[in-house]
Amino acid sequence: MDLQFWRDRWENQEIAFHQETVDPHLQALWPQIAPPAGAAAFVPLCGKSLDLHWLAQRGHRVVGVEISALAAEALFREHGLQPEIATRGAFQEFRHGPIRLLCGDFFDLAPNDLADVRLVHDRAALIALPEATRRTYAAKMGELLPRGAVILLITYDYPPAEMAGPPYPVTPAEIERIYGNAFAIKLVEDQDGLAHRPRYREKGLTRLTERVHLLQRH
Ligand code: SAH
Repeated sequence: MDLQFWRDRWENQEIAFHQETVDPHLQALWPQIAPPAGAAAFVPLCGKSLDLHWLAQRGHRVVGVEISALAAEALFREHGLQPEIATRGAFQEFRHGPIRLLCGDFFDLAPNDLADVRLVHDRAALIALPEATRRTYAAKMGELLPRGAVILLITYDYPPAEMAGPPYPVTPAEIERIYGNAFAIKLVEDQDGLAHRPRYREKGLTRLTERVHLLQRH
């Protein structure tokens, strides 16, 4: 899946993945996962997610990475904010207050970019990637994150023959395979996703398991 695919999705506003509310799992688990004061949160493949603003409102610096400049612009504009824009290596950095969005390819990040990150919010990021890329993504996450950092990881799982991704189905066995070396993995929720996501039933899914995992970097 190339980056142009995603730029085109934004160009054509095919962004059904975007949620008009703050992610409920992030809110529900917050008492358990809130990073220490002063620590930063990282939102990979962030789109224009409201979750960045929510995290900033909780008093944290937030770093997002997103390939689409349209998404980056919308993240600020739709909240009446005018970011400062600067070139930082391979990225265009959009910055306003505590929010810093690095517009570019996740795979170009360096550990320095995320040095004080203690929480990662992975909603529709890992599962947006095809299988071979997911392995590389998880390995990269292991390289980028400091010891102790926690990833809130939300996955979907469904019979693969019923829908072509993204989002792709990801099993607990795969999480173990790609993250198990560098992270302690805990499954914290296992829900029927179809109960509150009717559009996937319309797309032909007979089962959608939505899981929430907490991963901690060894
Ligand atoms: N997490 C967001 C967006 C999910 S869709 C949300 O919950 O709304 C996946 C997003 O990842 C898209 O916005 C796409 O443009 C972006 N993306 C895909 N591959 C990327 C990459 N390699 N680097 C940075 N962003 C990427």
